[in-house]
Amino acid sequence: MSGSYPRIGVLGIQGDCAAHAAALAEAGAEAVDVRKAGDLEGLDGLILPGGESTTMLRFLDRHGLFDRLREFVSHKPVFGTCAGTILLAKEVRNPAQRSLGVLNATVERNAYGRQIDSSILTGPTALAGGPMEMVFIRAPRIVKIGEGVETLAMRDGFPVLVRQGNIVAATFHPELSPDRRVHRFFVEIVRRLRRENPATNGD
Ligand code: GLN
Repeated sequence: MSGSYPRIGVLGIQGDCAAHAAALAEAGAEAVDVRKAGDLEGLDGLILPGGESTTMLRFLDRHGLFDRLREFVSHKPVFGTCAGTILLAKEVRNPAQRSLGVLNATVERNAYGRQIDSSILTGPTALAGGPMEMVFIRAPRIVKIGEGVETLAMRDGFPVLVRQGNIVAATFHPELSPDRRVHRFFVEIVRRLRRENPATNGD
């Protein structure tokens, strides 16, 4: 039903899934915990939260989720934060590792230093409403973007929030700040796609 709340999965392996679920609720979507392939059934979109991307990859392999997830993100909206962005990128460095490979970008892991160098900054964004608080935790750096990728916020000259069609990726953690603009931006992409393709709802 296009009038109802969109149902958006949150990959529940590790990371702050509860914070993402709360942010989705505030942004007008229903959050669904995703831990196995069957949980993706009928979802309108998906969030890949932060965590440790190597651990997440191992979990995806162990639960036979990698291929199903790759299929899902090839045609449904997806929003990655931090390690989620690493999973989405076409190329991962420091070290190189496998990924879902849908985001036209090269990402360098742990590029801003170790845990103690994690930081909270406020910086400009192309999203309406003025500067945005950004929480970085052992963040990756988007060192290169390719065709079709739009930069919505930057730090030190590198993109930290990008959009490529129905893909949104942040190297920081918008779910940890009270500002809901990034989640609302993603939910709006999900809503628009549901309106345009009612036939694919719930596939
Ligand atoms: N350092 C993590 C990685 O490389 C990402 C950190 C995060 O998601 N907060 O996978």
